[in-house]
Amino acid sequence: MTTSPKPTKPKLIPKRQIKPDIVRKNLHKSIKSFTLQRTGCWNPTSKIKIDRCKPCIAKKNEGCRFINIRAFPTSAFESATSTTEYRENDIVLEDDPYFMDYDGPDPISKYKKLTTMTITKTNYRNIVLQKFCKAFTKMLQEDSQRVIEHGTLIRRRAPLDNVRHVCDMCLTSIFNLHYMCSVCALDLCVDCYDKNWEEKQNSRLAHCTYRRKHTKEHMVPVIKYKTATLEQFKEQSSKMDEDSKKDNTLYSNMTSTDTHLNESVSTKTTKDENIVANDEAFMSDENDFLIVDADALTLDSFRTCWGMGKPIMVKNVMDKDSQELWSPESFINKYSVEEKEDGSKKRKIKVKTMTEVINCENGFVHETSVENFFKEYINPTLRKGYKKGEPVVLKIKDWPPKHDFGEQFPDLYTDFMRILPVKEYCTVNGYFNLSNRLPIELLPPDLGPKMFIAYGSDQGEQSVGTTKLHCDMADAVNVMCHANKSDDCAAAIWDIFPYESMSTIRSFVKKIALEQNKKIIDPIHDQWLYLNDTLLERLEKEHGVKSWRLYQNPGDAVFIPAGCAHQVSNYHSAIKCAYDFVSPENVERCLDITRQFGCVRREDALQLKNTLLFAWSKLYSSD
Ligand SMILES: [Zn+2]
Ligand SMILES: [Zn+2]
Ligand SMILES: [Zn+2]
Repeated sequence: MTTSPKPTKPKLIPKRQIKPDIVRKNLHKSIKSFTLQRTGCWNPTSKIKIDRCKPCIAKKNEGCRFINIRAFPTSAFESATSTTEYRENDIVLEDDPYFMDYDGPDPISKYKKLTTMTITKTNYRNIVLQKFCKAFTKMLQEDSQRVIEHGTLIRRRAPLDNVRHVCDMCLTSIFNLHYMCSVCALDLCVDCYDKNWEEKQNSRLAHCTYRRKHTKEHMVPVIKYKTATLEQFKEQSSKMDEDSKKDNTLYSNMTSTDTHLNESVSTKTTKDENIVANDEAFMSDENDFLIVDADALTLDSFRTCWGMGKPIMVKNVMDKDSQELWSPESFINKYSVEEKEDGSKKRKIKVKTMTEVINCENGFVHETSVENFFKEYINPTLRKGYKKGEPVVLKIKDWPPKHDFGEQFPDLYTDFMRILPVKEYCTVNGYFNLSNRLPIELLPPDLGPKMFIAYGSDQGEQSVGTTKLHCDMADAVNVMCHANKSDDCAAAIWDIFPYESMSTIRSFVKKIALEQNKKIIDPIHDQWLYLNDTLLERLEKEHGVKSWRLYQNPGDAVFIPAGCAHQVSNYHSAIKCAYDFVSPENVERCLDITRQFGCVRREDALQLKNTLLFAWSKLYSSD
């Protein structure tokens, strides 16, 4: 038996402690002769080593957080001597760092101008701004209050491009004021900084470099934007908020057409056989929401209902051409074969396109051909387990995988964007979609479209293809493009709950978890429960909360307001396509949900606060 020598690890001896009081003291002092850090923390050619920031430790100088903010007295480099305290033969700066204010321009004006929005009607500008000025003012006030509290301790650090700047603890996006560790540049959002530090000592982020533990005193308060810039926005938005309170008619005048809403809702819709079951809900006062034919829908009628926080169903959004395009037969014709380079013969050959599918029952993933998947979609008797009475239920995972929808399926993309109702809200260029104002450099979220293709199972709510109760950060529109219907039942049944009932639902679901002995972290965000008829009845009886029930069939678009808990029961195999957006009406709710997601460490891809900042600056200065 041979033994190979163990590689010797570099000796890590606990480094000198940076004394918190010195960090804070240095924030008050100014020095004449200092060297500002202009490159990443990791300089392999230099013998002099400095503490590295988190990104530099992980990726070697990508997105360094100390550039242009950390400085050392110039004398420190001269007096630095070899020390065994760190790694042998390395020279370590003995001096504690200073942090400098970045005085460069705000990036807000720097980012490229966006493409023209679909509406440029001037009076919509104020309507949009007015819808979110209250939430925006509150957000800026909270921020500036902190900035004032910290006074001269604050340092400004330029925001980095092409990095989604998030709190290292909870993954929420950081808008302006936050806290940076003076040693490893860990970034904490305000909420995480405020949380109990005793508890934090147990988390994996408790550790700074070299066996140090993070303490509040190590954290430097940092801002990203010039205070004057944000003050100006705050003045603009609080004035608009005040004005709209003083004079409610100021803005409502512009929406006078809304009063005709009830007439504009087509009577044709009530004749539709699919709505019969829903007729009562539609007519009754307490449970009404807008069901409207695509031809009869106007922007103003949409805005009125949407402004009430209710879901909306738009029927018949697809014409004949669309129906054909989105059929499984068309998918087989178009997407089941692809051309591939034949390496040896240098010519293209045709091969079957493969895709990953998930077994809804057990979550297992396997590969199958697109052709087989859709053949079984059309004809359940071909599915595995059919003879035993348990046909396998599959869904396609992320199709197209890792590709841009528009690039992969240009026909489908164009058609989907064409058929979407109220494009002003739910398309990439929609004037009422705030999300598209976020500059490319800040890595805006992927809003879709996203396709969902799943086999149905006749068991309805018991079925594994069911989407359990949950809520999303963004508004969304979900179009059923095709369903393999064999009977008159609705292809999918949606239960959407009013946003106001969220806390009631949360405690109800907690109660159910207790009864079922189920361990949960968050009653809604865990997405673990489908409320069947019995539970829905209990929720109404015990708490007076009732859902809006929507019956979705091919050609129907369902609009789900952000933050509304919802669940879907799928009865038939269906192809659905969805698009996310951020409407000004639901900004406050979005902010709320974002905060909740922070508690369960879900990434805040929407970057809502940054979105608001850029939406405000773009819209306010437009005319
Ligand atoms: Zn660095
Ligand atoms: Zn945080
Ligand atoms: Zn640290």
